[in-house]
Amino acid sequence: MADTEGESSQVLRVSCADKENQGSYEPCHKKAKLSDPSLDSTNRLEDRLNGILCCAVCLDLPQTCYQCTNGHLMCASCFNHLLADSRIRDETATCPNCRCEINKNNCVRNLAVEKAASEMPVDCHLCNLRLPRFQMSNHQRHLCQERPTVCRYARIGCRWKGPHQALSEHESSCVLPSKSGLEIMDALEAFDMRQTEEQKLYKTVFSLLSFEKITFNDLQLKPYRTEDFITQLFYESCRFSAFGYQWSIRASLNYTESKNPSHSTRRSMQYQLSLKTASPANPIRLHFLVLKGPYGEMKLNPIIYEHEFSGKEPDSGFKEMPLADTSECNKILAMKTISLRAILFQVVG
Ligand SMILES: [Zn+2]
Ligand SMILES: [Zn+2]
Ligand SMILES: [Zn+2]
Ligand SMILES: [Zn+2]
Repeated sequence: MADTEGESSQVLRVSCADKENQGSYEPCHKKAKLSDPSLDSTNRLEDRLNGILCCAVCLDLPQTCYQCTNGHLMCASCFNHLLADSRIRDETATCPNCRCEINKNNCVRNLAVEKAASEMPVDCHLCNLRLPRFQMSNHQRHLCQERPTVCRYARIGCRWKGPHQALSEHESSCVLPSKSGLEIMDALEAFDMRQTEEQKLYKTVFSLLSFEKITFNDLQLKPYRTEDFITQLFYESCRFSAFGYQWSIRASLNYTESKNPSHSTRRSMQYQLSLKTASPANPIRLHFLVLKGPYGEMKLNPIIYEHEFSGKEPDSGFKEMPLADTSECNKILAMKTISLRAILFQVVG
């Protein structure tokens, strides 16, 4: 035992002595400091601050920042994702750092971190210009010379696309303005068709608004689980009345499970309108749509569905709840209830 120790310390002495003999010996950390020019003091402070201010899950700097009761940071999107995952698995959500319980009541925003993160520099991915984060979206939308632009004659058929800095050169040589009316007709017709398509929804809504029978109800959908072998998460509203009948709305979740909350998985919701009054005398033809309720937070695109409800067919069948994306779906799952405004139009005759 003693021999081995002696041997190893001897080896150590020899190796140090070797370096001294070569005349270049310095402690390793000091050497690194001198030889790596990229590690100047501002860079290291920035990196250190990045490590301190970043989200514990995705490691990005948070724009909106929440913290657990012990002060660990999560960006809003990861916070909602953790809460949504726990809702799906019927578990208590916990902080990824310290495992304390997290929910909408005990986690608060951290404004100092949000402000500090917004001051941290970031490179424009188009022109590489380094700016504070809070200036980046304005820079990329209005100022960046490399931002993608289209020709001012796009609406009469020019398909040129390119960086903003090349725009004036293109426009001065663009052939579209010198074309005849006949030559640009096709482009104008295509443009009109797109516009008509966009206006269709609004026209439908306005014509529905002049229907004789319209109701709207503000609903709170509460989560519940089925008692099946594989339990499934549903949301359901209380019964509400419209046109002298009882109705309810039920929503369900579509998703693919992922262990890691920072992995984005496609999640979406569907809903169905159900007639709760047994055997109505006549079939009831409705147009219906859901919008976000008052004080609701999610982004919901309006889509109008149609169904004829009867004793035989009391359910509309599940329809897509038109949420913008998975993060909007997580926002809903992170809340205690879903707040919706359901608008029903009865088609008479
Ligand atoms: Zn995050
Ligand atoms: Zn924590
Ligand atoms: Zn730029
Ligand atoms: Zn052009």
